[in-house]
Amino acid sequence: MKVVIVGNGPAGITAAKTIRELNPDSEIVVYSKEPHSYYFRPKLPDLLGGSIESSEIYAYSEDWYRNRTIDVRLGTTVTEISPPKEHPPLVGIGGTITTLLAMKRGLKEFASSHIHHGLLKLRDIEEQIERLKILPLEKRRLIAGLPPERADIIMAGAMILFHSLARLGSERIWVSCQGLRHGILFDRFLP
Ligand SMILES: Cc1cc2nc3c(=O)[nH]c(=O)nc-3n(C[C@H](O)[C@H](O)[C@H](O)COP(=O)(O)OP(=O)(O)OC[C@H]3O[C@@H](n4cnc5c(N)ncnc54)[C@H](O)[C@@H]3O)c2cc1C
Repeated sequence: MKVVIVGNGPAGITAAKTIRELNPDSEIVVYSKEPHSYYFRPKLPDLLGGSIESSEIYAYSEDWYRNRTIDVRLGTTVTEISPPKEHPPLVGIGGTITTLLAMKRGLKEFASSHIHHGLLKLRDIEEQIERLKILPLEKRRLIAGLPPERADIIMAGAMILFHSLARLGSERIWVSCQGLRHGILFDRFLP
């Protein structure tokens, strides 16, 4: 795992220290626009007033960073953070996403063989939102693929899913009828 931290104040350096404690193998890079290693801000008045030496203001020695392989790049301003261009495939589980695909496919009866491994595009979710928002509840209850007891809550779930995908910059999500426990068992017990 590679961790990039912007800023070498208390927040940045504490994050780097904690990540190193939790994961000895991660690569940790800290960028700071300041040319100085992490120093105690409250001691600044003492330094400026001349009651302490500049060496006394720093929190950690160079050895401290070296021993923890925390790579601090001083005097480097971060001007842009680019999200990864390639997304790992997203997989959705649970009632909202399986229902949205059943609605898209107009399934009169839920059949996992028609849902599991199916693909839902951002545009599909948007279409279902457009469709739902003009219908009163009693008409939503008649939509094929939408269980009547879910008709009042599907809009909220669809909005969350739509905005999550949009925020991640992802155009599509795979649909699974299996749950988180299935994934955990798979991860733990299969090679
Ligand atoms: C004189 C003084 C006395 C204080 N006394 C106290 C006290 O007694 N008790 C107390 O609780 N708090 C005190 N504070 C406040 C405390 O220092 C701050 O709350 C704390 O420093 C905030 O930590 P931080 O890591 O969130 O942010 P900061 O300390 O502001 O660190 C952010 C770092 O990110 C870097 N950075 C920002 N943007 C970029 C970029 N684009 N690229 C690269 N680097 C970037 C900055 O250069 C900076 O080094 C004092 C502050 C000062 C100045």
